[in-house]
Amino acid sequence: MGSITTTGMMKKATAEAELSYQIYADYFGPTPFKRIAMTQQTATNYGQSWPELVYLPFSYLVDDTVRHQLFGFDPHGYFKVVGPHEVAHQWWGHTVGWNSYRDQWMSEGFSEFSASLLLQNAYGNVRFKDFWNDELQLLTERNREGFRAIDVGPVTLGYRLNNDKAGFDISRRLIYPKGGYILHMLRMMMYTNQAGDEAFKQAMHDFVKTYHNQPATTENFKALVEKHMTPQMDLDGNHRMDWFFNQYVYGTALPTYNFTFSTGAGTQGNTLKLKITQSGVDPNFKMLVPVYVELANGKVTRLGAAMLIGNSSVENEVPLGNNQVKRAMINYYNDVLAITEK
Ligand SMILES: [Zn+2]
Repeated sequence: MGSITTTGMMKKATAEAELSYQIYADYFGPTPFKRIAMTQQTATNYGQSWPELVYLPFSYLVDDTVRHQLFGFDPHGYFKVVGPHEVAHQWWGHTVGWNSYRDQWMSEGFSEFSASLLLQNAYGNVRFKDFWNDELQLLTERNREGFRAIDVGPVTLGYRLNNDKAGFDISRRLIYPKGGYILHMLRMMMYTNQAGDEAFKQAMHDFVKTYHNQPATTENFKALVEKHMTPQMDLDGNHRMDWFFNQYVYGTALPTYNFTFSTGAGTQGNTLKLKITQSGVDPNFKMLVPVYVELANGKVTRLGAAMLIGNSSVENEVPLGNNQVKRAMINYYNDVLAITEK
């Protein structure tokens, strides 16, 4: 293999850190930390973030080929996001703290989520969607002990979920990807075609400002989401997010979706017929399932969202006027943590 150098890749680490900083400041607001140093450490399997200093595993700083030869396959894309993840701890951990082990999922999960913003902005939606598929795999594949992390317990049990029976890798397989998904789902629910991420950004700025230099609890975060939730998120009509938090934060729900569509021409123009089926859930489980269409020009746009309760189906016929659609999709951006049948 010849000699291995890690200095060439520092350019990538530095560029990603700079871009991460700008994107996170835009989404979450300022941190008190005005500079950041990226350096390498001899550990190969983790990075670590300190205020204004990030340790990267030296394995992040070798190119893909060498890394493959040295360490083998990188099945969950860990090396792709360790830099942006550690930079995000400048916000999650160093600016906003966590109160107890029950709230640690926010620090790790929000840092994973932040890394997804870097991937989307720097590398595009394909890498972004690949990332969320990797996270889903981590949650739903069985470990050596035969457990799927998502079934073992809620994210609020944190590192207590590691034990002899379920395995000592459960917490890592749970709180990072699921904590990330929880924030990703909220972002996707707050997104509108008109305003984009504005409502989500306002909520996150408020969260960082309110808990600046303080520990935040899961309930603090829930109250903050309730302050900024959109009318569409008010599935219980009581301006609370209990439905969401009970299912995904304090619970272990994982719905399955099946989706079919057909297009046709009616008297009023083109139409799109949709059928969404939700299964594998409690009778009270409810979710907003977003529907996307790919237009004739290849552009993907959000059509709206359907509310499903329990194990049930909804059918709908959407008038399209003169618009042509190539195909329709649900959960196109992995909007809902779920198994989506293909
Ligand atoms: Zn972390």
